Amino acid sequence: MKAARIREYKKPLVFEDIPIPDIQADEVLVKVQACGMCRSDVLLVDGFFQNYANIAPPVIPGHEITGTIHKIGSVIPKAAGLSEGDHVVVAPGWGDGVCRHCQVGNTHICPNVRWPGFGTYGGFAEYIPVPARYVIKVANHLKFEELAPLTDAGLTPYRGIKKIRDAGGLGPDRVVGVFGIGGLGTYAVQYAQLLGAGATVVAFARNPDKLAIAKQYGADHLVDIKGKSASDVGKELKKATGQNKLDAIIDCAGAPEMMQLGFALLAISGHYADVGFVGDRIDVPLFPRVSGEQTFHGSFWGNNADLSEVMALAAKGKIKHTIKTIGFDQINEYLDMLRAGDIVGRAVVSFGSSADRPTAQRAELAAKS
Ligand SMILES: [Zn+2]
Repeated sequence: MKAARIREYKKPLVFEDIPIPDIQADEVLVKVQACGMCRSDVLLVDGFFQNYANIAPPVIPGHEITGTIHKIGSVIPKAAGLSEGDHVVVAPGWGDGVCRHCQVGNTHICPNVRWPGFGTYGGFAEYIPVPARYVIKVANHLKFEELAPLTDAGLTPYRGIKKIRDAGGLGPDRVVGVFGIGGLGTYAVQYAQLLGAGATVVAFARNPDKLAIAKQYGADHLVDIKGKSASDVGKELKKATGQNKLDAIIDCAGAPEMMQLGFALLAISGHYADVGFVGDRIDVPLFPRVSGEQTFHGSFWGNNADLSEVMALAAKGKIKHTIKTIGFDQINEYLDMLRAGDIVGRAVVSFGSSADRPTAQRAELAAKS
């Protein structure tokens, strides 16, 4: 099969023909149809995760995976309802299944977790073996290019907002802020509306183009924070919503300066959910957290149940996407663009035929031929 592999860290991926992997009795072989490109693929290629785990090359990156079932392991029960040809997404975060986190369904925070795309097999190849309990069947009419990013970019903010919702932080009389309108933020704005129980949704960013996308995806108000103090931003917020504080924040960036702004704007009994980790540490005053009984939620990726819910929303046509479909041979080029921050929305590697590609690209191809 075709595979794009890390042979050496900090070098471009190497395109190779390698054997189609065997599967274990409890696995399925997924024929990859599309795989999203994530900022963490760049971190992986650049050797960032070597600080935390020794992942020995060759490594196939790519963890936003969707495709079709090609082969089914021998011990997978009929009750699993899986057949060859089924369209599936791959739930990330494969736990050991026995620890207390796995037992309550949070396999993605298992101490023995494994991730597709961070080892021998990943989505930048034609096939990947996946434990059968980590594939979720999806409706055939959904586009692979749109499904792929929903397994990370479109999943991670969903879990973060669910945490705020489950803690009682949302309602018609509340204002929720979405911080950072990148790959994750465009989905976060939509989920803030879908799960917000009538809360007012305000998008915060320092780039007018990104704010325009937030507006398009349902933000009630936009605040351009570039060069503004917390008190200026608070005044602008008050003008827009009638209050100068935020009852909840979903932070998709985790950038230190923006987090300091967020904590300065957080209301009494406010909830701050962070799914981003662009920065490493923050310096914020403690007294307002204690006296205002505020809550900070760390929220990481998502579990199988979260992804199933996201798929239900997708099946109902309730999620909008900004996707750039690319070919397998363009992976290195787009990793460079991702590293430079030059991609708006999500780049998705498509293994489909040219007929499956968006109209604009078909026109481009037709012009070339
Ligand atoms: Zn576990």
